[in-house]
Amino acid sequence: MGKIKKLSNDVINSIAAGEVVERPSSALKEIIENSIDANATSIDVDVRGSGENLIKVIDNGEGIEKDDIPLAFERHATSKIKSILDLATVNTLGFRGEALPSIASVSRFTLKSKTKNSDIGYMLTVEYGKVGKLKPISMNNGTIIEIKDLFSNVPVRKSFLKSPSTEYYHCEETFIRYAMVNYDIDMKLFHDNTIRYSLKKSDLEKRLYDIFPDMKGKLLYCEGEGKGFSFKIYLSDLHYLYKRSKKHYMFVNKRPFWDKFVYRAIYAGYGNALQGKHPFFSIYIDIDPMVIDVNVHPRKWEIRFSNGDDLFNSIKESVSSLWKESISISNSYNGSNTRNYNYDYKNYNYRDRDYTYVKEETKPIQTSFTFSDTMAINISENDKKDSSKNRKYLQILDTYIVFASFSGMIVIDQHAAGERIMYEKLINNIKGDSQPLLFPIQVHLSLYEDENYKKMKDILHKMGFRINRLGNRIYVIEGVPAGSMDISAESFVDMLQEDLPTEDLYDEVMKRIACNMAIKAGHKMTEEEMENLVIDLFACDNPYFCPHGRPTIIEWKGEEIERWFKRR
Ligand code: ADP
Ligand code: MG
Repeated sequence: MGKIKKLSNDVINSIAAGEVVERPSSALKEIIENSIDANATSIDVDVRGSGENLIKVIDNGEGIEKDDIPLAFERHATSKIKSILDLATVNTLGFRGEALPSIASVSRFTLKSKTKNSDIGYMLTVEYGKVGKLKPISMNNGTIIEIKDLFSNVPVRKSFLKSPSTEYYHCEETFIRYAMVNYDIDMKLFHDNTIRYSLKKSDLEKRLYDIFPDMKGKLLYCEGEGKGFSFKIYLSDLHYLYKRSKKHYMFVNKRPFWDKFVYRAIYAGYGNALQGKHPFFSIYIDIDPMVIDVNVHPRKWEIRFSNGDDLFNSIKESVSSLWKESISISNSYNGSNTRNYNYDYKNYNYRDRDYTYVKEETKPIQTSFTFSDTMAINISENDKKDSSKNRKYLQILDTYIVFASFSGMIVIDQHAAGERIMYEKLINNIKGDSQPLLFPIQVHLSLYEDENYKKMKDILHKMGFRINRLGNRIYVIEGVPAGSMDISAESFVDMLQEDLPTEDLYDEVMKRIACNMAIKAGHKMTEEEMENLVIDLFACDNPYFCPHGRPTIIEWKGEEIERWFKRR
């Protein structure tokens, strides 16, 4: 007998399930997409635990006719495309007809649906791929999907899942992404009986701020168009950049996606103003469906553009024009929550128009120069003691403080210096003295940030933070460590990015606070601020390096300067 056998449907479905449903959030994505495709105007999502326990979605869409219900669980059964021609212009989110059979092969799946043409609805249960009997039920128009015990018949897949909170976090991110572009739909998200989001039908911009209330007043808007495409972008003003947090949202024809060229184009548009930091952005691209191929990825997360260069350049130009000149936001967005751009960035350093694109991961900066004996980092005691008022400070590139020393010229990196000062203040503030904030700062944390916050909470308190919980993941910062220089909601949230080490947690938290509360590069300083910073730096036990090991201060001795001019 031959060895080749045709695989059974069960096996085919669970193989496909591996491609389509990688984790609970990917099942949720498919189900939300189906509700959107069914023209629902209300979608309620309920997730229990990680999502493996239960994902339930209730919509008021068109529903499925009785006879079609069993068909929906057959592979490549779809109501959305009929021929290969439709494939090129598909404007629904689904079209492969793979999602329901795939998910139902790895869960206990229940579908209930009623169309407006029928007085009653029907319910079908599929247990790990075994299709049950259709039963009549009474319900409202629309569809209710329940996915229980996801992956419990495929332990291998289960073992690839991350912690329940991470899996839930992905579910929430999925919900957010679809909610951002489906602003004409009322959408709710519940998690373990708590309501996370309750979003009323609105418009694109209002929906954005309904989801991210903290972003109000911190984003700029720009738009652009080219042959066969147009786009809108909301993105961080230069004052609201993040050290670590990367909240980036991309949509093409109302479909969430990810593309590294789009990401680079936006970063490129910031020029060198980012200085290793990250903006929040949300870009909405509308493009002729004929020039993209959404079919490249089984989960349709990546998209291929056939006019990628035009799009890339147009995005970059549009973003960089925000900093080039003062522009006001297009009329339709006036009077909104988005800031009008009117800063004077003339003095910013934008010579470097042809910079190379920003590296995807910004690592802590490594300095490559070696110190020569004429370029000392050991500042003389005379210089340290000389805090006389007659020393003139000059700030260059809004980042470095320059002044004459007794034997040459000193250059200080204001941020690195600020970090060092803050770090030592924290170390020495053993009592954890706190200074109250004149204007307490409210922060809304994501699930991930909240988890990190909980781990750091006690340490933060010991260091002088006074933080109260206002509600579900909402806190108010009322006090900060005594002698702190600067705190904003962004810098606080930034501190909660990236996983925390299990060892030396205390030191890591101190470094993060020091880094986030220190004066930033790109911040204009008054003469007095510069003077105070220099005095504070010289008072440090180790003034020469920031807590990450970057130099804070360099002196060029006279001999070195003489050499520049060939006097030696
Ligand atoms: P696809 O979305 O790629 O067509 P799915 O497996 O996700 O494939 O769904 C199969 C079919 O079931 C869809 O084409 C649609 O006709 C129907 N369907 C699924 N979910 C819903 C829903 N919430 N409302 C109405 N019809 C639905
Ligand atoms: Mg679908």
